[in-house]
Amino acid sequence: MAKKGKLVVISGPSGVGKGTICREVIKKTNTVISISVSTRQRSESETEGKDYYFVSREEFQKKIANNEFLEFAEVFGNYYGTLKDKTEKLLDEGKNVILEIDVQGGRQVKEQYPETVMIFIMPPSRDELAKRMTGRARGEDPQTAKRRLDGSSREIAEAREFYEYKVTNDQLEKAVEEVINIIEGKAGEI
Ligand code: ADP
Ligand code: 5GP
Repeated sequence: MAKKGKLVVISGPSGVGKGTICREVIKKTNTVISISVSTRQRSESETEGKDYYFVSREEFQKKIANNEFLEFAEVFGNYYGTLKDKTEKLLDEGKNVILEIDVQGGRQVKEQYPETVMIFIMPPSRDELAKRMTGRARGEDPQTAKRRLDGSSREIAEAREFYEYKVTNDQLEKAVEEVINIIEGKAGEI
């Protein structure tokens, strides 16, 4: 039977480059990204079942009631959650699984699986974060973008408590390499 994969949580402020880093990491390692369920509206650049499983609030509530989530949280007014069954199946197949989730979700995962590798991605500066968020072509209105930027300081402060690794995403290639080293270093321990 395959050795169980590692569970990896990657968090960081909106627009910091989590998605970009993760896409590179999965190309280069035996790692997959878990697809979350979300009640957020799908933007035109996103695909159902690839970026998220987009559901109504009612459907999300049903999944909570059926105990389908490993973790879930309300982020910027929408619900997001990680499916327990799918995640465990991937781990059982020996794959490392990245959960690209917020700090509230990260806390829930760490409580249930203390061996989880916790990585927080930091921006080089607040100005650069603002630039990346607006450059992201997701068509958010300025108010939503501002709300997300304001949320970043709170999230960074909270993450100090229980994220073991911090990676600054200044140069993309360097950040990707650091994340791979963390995952593989940890993966080699057992
Ligand atoms: P997140 O998933 O954290 O919300 P994204 O991966 O969508 O962030 O990245 C936000 C924007 O920043 C994208 O336009 C992306 O191309 C850009 N970006 C990501 N990493 C870097 C980097 N190291 N330097 C410059 N721009 C970056
Ligand atoms: P976005 O709307 O930009 O795709 O995601 C917004 C925030 O929700 C990001 O911080 C992202 O990491 C977080 N997020 C995405 N999926 C999940 C999830 O399944 N659970 C939790 N707790 N947060 C999530």
